[in-house]
Amino acid sequence: MKEGYQLVIGLEIHIQLQTARKLFATESSGFIEEPNKHISPITWAHPGVLPQLNRQALRLAIRMGLATHCAIDRFSRFARKHYFYPDLPKGFQRTQSDQPICREGYLDLKVGGEWQQISIERIHLEEDAGKSIHDQDPAFSFVDLNRAGTPLLELVTRPEIHSIEAALAFLAEVRRIVRYHGVSDGDMEKGNLRCDANISLRPSPEAPLGTRVEIKNLNSFSFLQRAIEVEISRQTALLEAGKPVMRETRAFDPKTGTTLSLRSKEEAQDYRYLTEPDLPPLHLPEAWLEEEASQLLELPMARFRRYTETISEAEALTLIESLAMSQYLDNTTACGSSLQAAANWMLGPLSALARTGQWDWEQPAFPPSELAALIELVETRQVSHHDAKERLLPALLDPGHAPAALLSEQLGIRMVSQQNRIQEVIQAVMQENPDEVQRYRQGKKALVGFFVGKVMKELGGGVDPKEVNQVVMAQLSAPA
Ligand code: ADP
Ligand code: MG
Repeated sequence: MKEGYQLVIGLEIHIQLQTARKLFATESSGFIEEPNKHISPITWAHPGVLPQLNRQALRLAIRMGLATHCAIDRFSRFARKHYFYPDLPKGFQRTQSDQPICREGYLDLKVGGEWQQISIERIHLEEDAGKSIHDQDPAFSFVDLNRAGTPLLELVTRPEIHSIEAALAFLAEVRRIVRYHGVSDGDMEKGNLRCDANISLRPSPEAPLGTRVEIKNLNSFSFLQRAIEVEISRQTALLEAGKPVMRETRAFDPKTGTTLSLRSKEEAQDYRYLTEPDLPPLHLPEAWLEEEASQLLELPMARFRRYTETISEAEALTLIESLAMSQYLDNTTACGSSLQAAANWMLGPLSALARTGQWDWEQPAFPPSELAALIELVETRQVSHHDAKERLLPALLDPGHAPAALLSEQLGIRMVSQQNRIQEVIQAVMQENPDEVQRYRQGKKALVGFFVGKVMKELGGGVDPKEVNQVVMAQLSAPA
C-alpha cells in the first residue's frame, strides 16, 4: 500500500453450525451429494407451514457469544430479510437484525509481535440459502435446496482491523474457537466457514472512514489475503487518480486474481426488514447461559499466551491448532514434563507419526502420562534419546504394551539395568582373574583394557564401550 493510507477492514464471518437438523425444520442439515434430498415443506416454503427454532442452534449461538466475550441478550427476535433469488423459495431469509443474540464482544490476538484487541459488533443466527447450479445444462439453471435453512452464525467485527495479517489471525482464531467448542467443523473448503471482507482506505487514522467495498464469500485464508491485496491496489489507484471508490459488493476470482463488481450495495431499507410473525420472541432460559458458561474452554489465544512464555510462537501456533493437541500437551505437563520437552516430542516424533497415519491426536495410541514417563526416562538418563525415539516410542504404539518404564526394561534399553548387567559381568570376570585384579590395584592401570575386552566379549554387541569402561574402572577401584 502506498504510504499515507490506512487500511480498514471489517469482517463478516459465516459459520455453519454443527447441528443435526436445520434451523427451523427437522430434516438433516448434513451435506448430501444428491440434490434436494434434505427438504421438507418448510424448506420448500409451502403455504401455511410454520417454522420451529432448533434449540441446539440457539445453544451454540450462546456458546459462541460467551467464548468471544459478548453480552448475551436474554431477549431477542427474528426478522425477515427480503430479496428475490431462485435458491430462496420463501422470498425472504430468516435472520436477526436489530435484536441479535450476542453483542459487543472481542478477541485478543498477537499480530506482528503485538497483542491487539478486535471488537465484535454482533453475532446473530440466520438460515443459509440453497444453491443455484449453472454448469449442468446450456439452457437451464438448477436449484438444490439441501443447504437451504441450515443454521448459520454471522459474526460481524467492527472496522478495527488494519492489516492483512490481523485479518488472517482473526479468522484463524475464530476457526479454532468454533472447533474447540463444537460450534462448527470450521471446514472452509466445504464452505462451512466463509467470510466477507469489507475494505476501505483512508488518508490517515484520524480521517473519517473511507467508502467500503465488500468482497463476498472468501472461503480460504489465501483468498482472503489475495482479495485484500488486490482491493488495496485497486482502491489506491482510484484514490491516486482522484476518482471515488464506489460502495459496492465484489467477488474475488481466484483464477484471475482480481475482484469483479457484483452489484452496487443495497441499503438496509431495500431488504424491507420485518419482524418475523411466525416465530415468537425469544426468551433465553438463564440456566442455559449458566450451563454454557460453566463449560467454556480456555481460548486458543490464551493458551498461546501461556505457551509462549516458554516455547516459540511458531511452536505454540501449531500446538493450539487443535484442542486435542493442546489438551494432550497440557496433560503431559500436568504429569510433570517440561513444556519444551513435551512440545518437542509432540511436534517432532509424534507429529511425524501423525503424518503417516500412525498417530491420531483425537485417539492417541497412548495417554499423555506415558509420554511424560518417556520424557522422564530420557531426562534422568535412564534411556538414551535415540533409543527412546527409535525403540521405545514405536513399541508404545502397540496396543496392550507395558508402561513406558517397564517396557524400556523389556526392550533392554534401560541404561540402569544395562549398568547392573555390566556390573554383574565385571564382578564375575574379576573373580576369575584375581591376579590381574591385584596387579591393577598395585598400579598396572593399563590392565583396564584387558577387563573391558572381557566384559565386552561377554555382553556381545550393543553396549557403549565408554560406559563399560566407566563401570569397570569403578569396580576395579572399589575396596575389595
Ligand atoms: P452491512 O450489513 O451492509 O454489510 P454493516 O454495518 O453491518 O453493513 O457492516 C458490515 C461490516 O463492514 C462490518 O464488519 C463493519 O466493521 C464493516 N465496515 C463498516 N464500515 C467500514 C469501512 N468504512 N471500511 C471497512 N469496513 C467497514
Ligand atoms: Mg454484510
